Parts: sequence; structure tokens; C-alpha cells
Amino acid sequence: MLVVMDTHAGEDQVNAVCDEIRNMGLTPHPMPGAQRTAIGITGNKGAVEASRIEQMIGVVRVIHVTAPYKLVSREFHEEDSAVHVGDVMFSKQNFTIIAGPCAVESAQQIDEVAAHLKAHGAHMLRGGAFKPRTSPYSFQGLGETGLKLMQETGKRHGLPVVTEAVDRESLQLVEKYGDMIQIGARNMQNFSLLRDAGRSRKPVLLKRGMSATLEELLMAAEYIVNEGNPNVVLCERGVRTFADHTRNTLDLSAIPFVQRTSHLPIIADPSHGTGRREKVIPLSCASVAVGADGIIVEVHPHPDQAMSDGPQSLFPDQFVELMRQISVIAGVVNRTLIQEPQPKAV
Ligand code: PEP
Ligand code: MN
Repeated sequence: MLVVMDTHAGEDQVNAVCDEIRNMGLTPHPMPGAQRTAIGITGNKGAVEASRIEQMIGVVRVIHVTAPYKLVSREFHEEDSAVHVGDVMFSKQNFTIIAGPCAVESAQQIDEVAAHLKAHGAHMLRGGAFKPRTSPYSFQGLGETGLKLMQETGKRHGLPVVTEAVDRESLQLVEKYGDMIQIGARNMQNFSLLRDAGRSRKPVLLKRGMSATLEELLMAAEYIVNEGNPNVVLCERGVRTFADHTRNTLDLSAIPFVQRTSHLPIIADPSHGTGRREKVIPLSCASVAVGADGIIVEVHPHPDQAMSDGPQSLFPDQFVELMRQISVIAGVVNRTLIQEPQPKAV
């Protein structure tokens, strides 16, 4: 449920409504907006006795939120949310490019690619140190050593770092060394990990599970936000279908659907979404055109030697071409690739 306050409602009136909600054994979530304050209510098992709140001073109306997700829904929060990672901002005006190898493999590999990516306009650096691999015999990542390399390299090149956490222990390390926590497709419904990420102060990149519906994706985001971390960016990374010409089917229709039902930013991952490097540029262009708030792409200095996801990793030159193409399309859809340091909203 959502309580809409009058534009002139003062802080004392908002506080009184919050107290009343608490008296009812529920949790209030005040959301100050440009025009007026709204107060979300969670914690109810059934219908809430709306009349108790409706009659309070300063209350305009009480809306029943129909979606199963509350805090991440547009019904709760009408305006688009922006998520800040250092000076980088995921928002409707920007188009944010996260690039880097699937996995950090060595100091030289990550430094070489980061220098190239920064020089050609990437905003953030990706690279996993904890890799969820299908086979236990495949390269599992460099662990803490890899995270230190990511942190040093990101700082050296002025690129905030996003890197994956796969369990509670790795989450603590990612929080320490990274700027943004990635929750991967395989862990989208690891509810204890989602709760832990929700207690973190670092922003979270939440990837869609490979057979998750959009409702499930938004419910997963709800777990994080419900623990007190509002800084969640969603990611469409392709789903399993009958199609075998690509690794996954990048479901670009998810982008406008999510944007209609949720206020959270959403980006696309054309690398995992296709699994084929020659498809990454066209699907990146399509992601911009469809209204995504950014992309995350895999780029390796020597993709043929990559320890994971080589076939979908771009050659450095291809990243330059990708930037050239998407900058043209970004202009058409009123997005800028330039990230000005933004003051944080309070
Ligand atoms: C990755 O980003 O390298 C990754 C493992 O992605 P996903 O969780 O989408 O498979
Ligand atoms: Mn990968």
C-alpha cells in the first residue's frame, strides 16, 4: 500500500502517519519526491485497514499496490531512480558502459585492457575474481588476489569496479575491494545472498536468472531493497530458449517491460546474451535503441587466450567500433555517453 501525502504536508504530519503505520505492526517507507512525499507500507499479510490512515491530516489518498513487488514498483515510486557508483550514474539521461574481461587473470591482462577501455570511453571496469563455472575443473577465478588487482587497476585508470560475489564470504571481500557488487544469473534466487547484499552499503548489479520471469527478477530486487539497500541496477543477460544459434536469447523486450513496472535502472549484457563476439556490437546497438540504461560487455586483450568466455569477448579494436556505433544511436534516443560527476541526491 502507498500513502500519498498532500504537497503541503509537513514533516510532523508525515511522521504521524509513519507512527500510525508502526502502531499497526507494519513498516513505513517515506519517499520524499519532487512534488510530494509518499509513504510505502510493507509487512502486511492481508489487506490493511486503510481508513485509519486515510482520515489523518495531510493524507490525500491511499493506493493499493497490485504488483507482488512493492518497493521496486512504479506504483510505489513514480520517478525513475538513479544509481550512483562513484562518479558514474545509471539514469535515464546517461548511457553507462561497463566493460572488461569475464575474469581478471593477471595484473598485466587487466591493466592492458583497462587502459584501452578508459581511453575509448568505458565508464566502469568489470572482471570476476569468483567465477561460477559449470565445471569444477574450469578456472574458478583468482579470489582475493584478483579483487586486489581489480581495485588497484580501477583506481589507476579512474574506472569504478563491478565484480561478482557468489556467497557470503566472497560478498564480504567484494564489498571491501569493489565499488559495485554483481549478483550473477545463477544466484538471482539465492535469497540469503540477496539479503546480505541488501545489508551492504555498496550498489548492486543484479542479473536476471537464465530461466527467470521478470516478476521473479523484480522479486529478487525486492529482497535487496527490502533490507535497506535502494541502489540496485537490473541486468538482462539472456534466457534459455530452444534457440541454439546463440548461447542465450537476449530478451530485449524485458527492458521496456521492466521500465514500465519498476523505477530501477536496467542494463543489457549482449556478451552473455549471445555468447558470440560478432553479435555483441549489433545487440549493443539494439540495447541502446530499446532504451536500456547501459550495457555490460566482455573485452579481453587476447580473447583467444581468455581463461573464460573467450568466444564472446571482444577484441580491443572491436570495442572502439562498438563505442563509435552506440554513440550515434545514443544521440537519437537522447542519451549521453558523457558522465559528469553528479551531486548525490539526498
Ligand atoms: C559474468 O558476468 O561473467 C557472468 C558469469 O554472468 P551471468 O551471471 O549473467 O552468467
Ligand atoms: Mn563471462
